[in-house]
Amino acid sequence: MITVTSPLLPPLDEFSNLLKEIWDSKWITNNGDFHKRLEKELAAYLKVPYLSLFTNGTLPLITALQALRISGEVITTPYSFVATTHALWWNGIKPVFVDVDPSNCGIDPSKIEAAITPKTTAIMPVHCYGKPCDIKGIQEIADKYGLKVIYDAAHAFGVEINGESILNAGDISTLSFHATKVYNTVEGGAMVVHDEQTKKRIDYLKNFGFAGETEVVAPGINSKMDEIRAAYGLLTLREVDKAIAARNQVAIRYRKTLRNVEGITFFEDMPGVRHNYSYFPIFVDADKFGMTRDQLYERMKANGVLSRRYFYPLISEFSTYRGLPSAVKENLPVAHRLADSVLCLPMHHGLTEVEIEQVLKFFCK
Ligand SMILES: *Cc1c(COP(=O)(O)O)cnc(C)c1O
Repeated sequence: MITVTSPLLPPLDEFSNLLKEIWDSKWITNNGDFHKRLEKELAAYLKVPYLSLFTNGTLPLITALQALRISGEVITTPYSFVATTHALWWNGIKPVFVDVDPSNCGIDPSKIEAAITPKTTAIMPVHCYGKPCDIKGIQEIADKYGLKVIYDAAHAFGVEINGESILNAGDISTLSFHATKVYNTVEGGAMVVHDEQTKKRIDYLKNFGFAGETEVVAPGINSKMDEIRAAYGLLTLREVDKAIAARNQVAIRYRKTLRNVEGITFFEDMPGVRHNYSYFPIFVDADKFGMTRDQLYERMKANGVLSRRYFYPLISEFSTYRGLPSAVKENLPVAHRLADSVLCLPMHHGLTEVEIEQVLKFFCK
């Protein structure tokens, strides 16, 4: 069986050594040494000024909206993992879906203005597959209308444009360190902020709002990362460059073959961008390829190759959201076209040449 992803695991003996340290110290959570070290090392690796660790990638989204006191309506993309929109719902915010740009699968800035109402307070885009959104286009509209921008950067670990991290865009960016992501701490996540004061406030919010032993300054939540996963994360961080390089090699192999397959399109690298190759989406034109996306998916699955239809169905199609005015199909033609044709091929650091061949076999007639 070839799976769509495989977790980047730290060397077990090194992890055991760190566990021994934790056992000896008896400090297992609440901003311990490993937590502090991981925040520092991640901020340096990602080239961001301040970063706050979280227990997963969904809670920083929810907490970012709290921290910026976002309310009313927020403009977002339907072409993402469902947590993006759930974070709005958990804050009592009405999601307003805007269509995406097929060149990067991110929100299309040219369609944002038409969706703004007096209740709009923010934009929540997603760097889908780690492809940078049109950051400049989004920021121009945000500045013009006085809106905040919170990026769901769950896919964008380590992505840079001309040497600068895209995590510095907007007001806040959030990351997921889930097992299926390029970099993982089993479960985990982080929030990237621009200044020390905001980082302090976020650290209160993720710890029940405690600002001291007896002082609670906000209705916070518990979304802290523990020492065990922080130690794990220090070790996977050492391996991540190697893993990204291995993923790049897989992408190169896939493209080399798929370039000659009629009815299959995919993304090339963007100039000046350091990609992380977190996913390898292809888009199937059924007429030209001679098979629908779902037929291809089922055929691969029946033969032991597990691909994924990310992101199908669109978030706007789930029962919670499909009643929203912006969820109608006519409002989101590009997102629907992508969702109906996309297939993410197996992509991880451990794929062997034989496995890559096995995947590509389905495209050779
Ligand atoms: C993985 C993911 C999340 C959620 O992260 P968790 O760590 O699983 O909570 C949010 N948004 C996107 C786009 C994701 O891919």
